[in-house]
Amino acid sequence: MKHVLVIPGDGIGPEVIVPSVAVIREITDAIDFEFVESGKKAFEKYGEAISNEVLDKARKADAIFFGATTTVRDPKYRSSILTLRYELDLYANVRPAKALLPGMRKVDITVIRENTEGLYTGREERDLDGVTTFRRVSVKGCERIVKFAFSWCKQNSRKKIACVHKSNVLRQSDGLFLDIFNTEAMKNKKIASSEMLVDSTAMKMVMIPEEFDTLVTLNLYGDILSDLAAGLIGGLGFLPSANIGKERALFEPAHGSAPDIAGRGIANPFAALLSGKMMLEYLGFKKEAQSLSGAVEKTAAGSPSLIDAEGRCNTQAAIDSIKESLRSSAPAGKSGRAKP
Ligand code: NAD
Ligand code: MN
Repeated sequence: MKHVLVIPGDGIGPEVIVPSVAVIREITDAIDFEFVESGKKAFEKYGEAISNEVLDKARKADAIFFGATTTVRDPKYRSSILTLRYELDLYANVRPAKALLPGMRKVDITVIRENTEGLYTGREERDLDGVTTFRRVSVKGCERIVKFAFSWCKQNSRKKIACVHKSNVLRQSDGLFLDIFNTEAMKNKKIASSEMLVDSTAMKMVMIPEEFDTLVTLNLYGDILSDLAAGLIGGLGFLPSANIGKERALFEPAHGSAPDIAGRGIANPFAALLSGKMMLEYLGFKKEAQSLSGAVEKTAAGSPSLIDAEGRCNTQAAIDSIKESLRSSAPAGKSGRAKP
């Protein structure tokens, strides 16, 4: 039995996570899910968005399944996701953007983003004239994300990787990242490697997205470019993510709590479901992961009218269609049932 800690969060977080857990439960009985509170609602109730108790549970779980939380503009507010990434040292953020809807350009781009340093250290200093933000690029941070990216390419049969940076301006920090990438590339000659400046990468991703494969990049660039990639495949509702550390992992749709559509039943659950698929793979349920991604792909390909131009859909209709597809393709029933 695997133990998964579920943090649905705020806004559309619960709207996509709760039905995704229900879908996974239809596929396997071998995961036990524990639901806990964290985020804006928790902050208003208990004075903290994420408690030490939740953090302890997260440390002990086999994986964490996270929805999204709403940021509160209060100096005492500590973001749940940033705290989890930092405290559990989830240094690699993997965001695969694959076009599933018919008629779309053939986009299949994975952004691998350094997840614990860069501009996201949370260290800002106010002085009389403004604010200085502390940006950290460490040897250890670069080495582990670059090594992770090459090994991810090998495991997922990806042939091309590009290092995205801004070393023409940030000569030392991004220069260090690029040097470490080049050293690792020399050891992995079967994977074609290249390097690109982040600004021109953004332009090329819009103009020739089909030519991109895997990107490895620093925290802020990866945050922005992965949302750009989501824009190429129908919106944030299609972008799943995995936050991976040495011993722990958290899976979450890349989107936020979307207060503009919360409570209306129109959040696209595909990103949450595909994050669930990545979690099944991580936990060793390979066949179950395949049936889930098969059902998601079939639903996306079979009912394009489900998704509107802004990437929204009837959440319940999408979930029903995925459950239906799972039932029709797996007559043998779910895995993990106790043997008679
Ligand atoms: P967002 O991702 O919530 O929404 C951006 C846009 O995409 C909105 O128009 C939204 O309606 C749309 N969208 C997002 N997910 C969708 C889905 N599944 N289906 C259909 N449309 C979807 O980003 P934002 O508006 O910049 O932020 C809203 C709140 O979420 C903020 O408080 C922000 O801090 C927070 N946030 C949290 C996380 C997290 O918890 N990991 C990540 C990003 C943003
Ligand atoms: Mn983001």
